[in-house]
Amino acid sequence: MQCLECGDELSRLDNSHLLHCCSLTLHEYALRHHLPLDLLLDKDQINCEDWIDDYSSPQSQPSERARAIFRGLKWSGLLCNENEFTLLPGEVRRLDLLLWDLHWLSEYGFQFRQEYRYAEATHRVVALNRLKVPSVLLQQNAEVRLSPVPPPDFLWSLAVLIAHVGELQAGYLFLQFPEQTAAETVMVEAERRGVHFKQLDAAGHAGGVMLRTLTTSDTRQLLDLVEGMLSEMPGVSERFNQNTPEVTVSKELVFDSAHFITDHPAKCSNLHGGRYLLHVKVRDRVDPVTGCVVDYGYLKRVATKQIIDRFDHHNLNYTAAELSWRSSTEMLCVYIWEQLIDYLPGLVELELYETTQSWCNYKGPSLALFQEQGSDRLLGHFVDEKLGSASHRNLIKEKLTALEVIGKTTG
Ligand SMILES: [Zn+2]
Repeated sequence: MQCLECGDELSRLDNSHLLHCCSLTLHEYALRHHLPLDLLLDKDQINCEDWIDDYSSPQSQPSERARAIFRGLKWSGLLCNENEFTLLPGEVRRLDLLLWDLHWLSEYGFQFRQEYRYAEATHRVVALNRLKVPSVLLQQNAEVRLSPVPPPDFLWSLAVLIAHVGELQAGYLFLQFPEQTAAETVMVEAERRGVHFKQLDAAGHAGGVMLRTLTTSDTRQLLDLVEGMLSEMPGVSERFNQNTPEVTVSKELVFDSAHFITDHPAKCSNLHGGRYLLHVKVRDRVDPVTGCVVDYGYLKRVATKQIIDRFDHHNLNYTAAELSWRSSTEMLCVYIWEQLIDYLPGLVELELYETTQSWCNYKGPSLALFQEQGSDRLLGHFVDEKLGSASHRNLIKEKLTALEVIGKTTG
């Protein structure tokens, strides 16, 4: 076949030709020339086995920098095990970052692999870019290799964490952790440097933790702290200094609920039910590395946890004090906004349909304003501590006996 980069006629196209010809991997070449990998690969290049013997133990201990980077990657939860290997997966769009990681992780014996696998679920060949090391090699002298003495540089570990799993949403930085202790370390160390985080309950990992910078100025302060480090990592700074197009994404959610309207003069005071349709709209810049404004999976996870699990197949009036009086679509919108804004600072609009003929739209306060002002007073009447403090209440207090008589059953 002909190489579309250099025009040479080749018996087969592979990485050893491409890397010399154009410095591209086969995966990138396939994307650039929009060709399915199946057409470029011979059978013997697919589902190849990786051999432990092809790896060797490093001769010296990892440097302090390498240990800091390794720790940041451990925090991120990206390192995983597959058969006899420990690996760090990378995305092809971020191949240069993965190769930057390789520069440091080679001190632990990691090597780069681009593996072509036939994926049964999709019936096509996919390429996997990853750094791999035999787990047994990593475990050898594990105490010495992983021992944090002297402790690896916190800021380098943090920068690596941000570069790999940080998500910027409307100026707030989100970090996900597979486990609590790493999140706590980051929170405490960042706090010492004047950067505040808020812990949120919507991690992608089971039992994991999600942190979000408390304010946009915390984000700026945090990014300033690691700016020099992020700029060393290929393609990372562009994600956090975004100048990409702004797009609104929308997620449609459905819940079946019952409700009634207290003191309503007509039949809405009766318990009745229906299917609600909710559109959650988030506007932000497109992340150049993920190609997304916000992951739809994340949006769904947050909305499911905060809204659907609480409302679906429930009587709305009994789900929250804020809704017990009036669970109208208007009140619901204001309430739902407050349940989502912490997780979705790019939230721009909610659209809630009670029936196909009746719906409402709501644009609530920004996260900054919400954090400053707190919950809307509209929702607070029956939870306000001042409820019952008006002097006129004395009129009925004085006639308590009369009230009691009315309330009593006779006989
Ligand atoms: Zn070529």
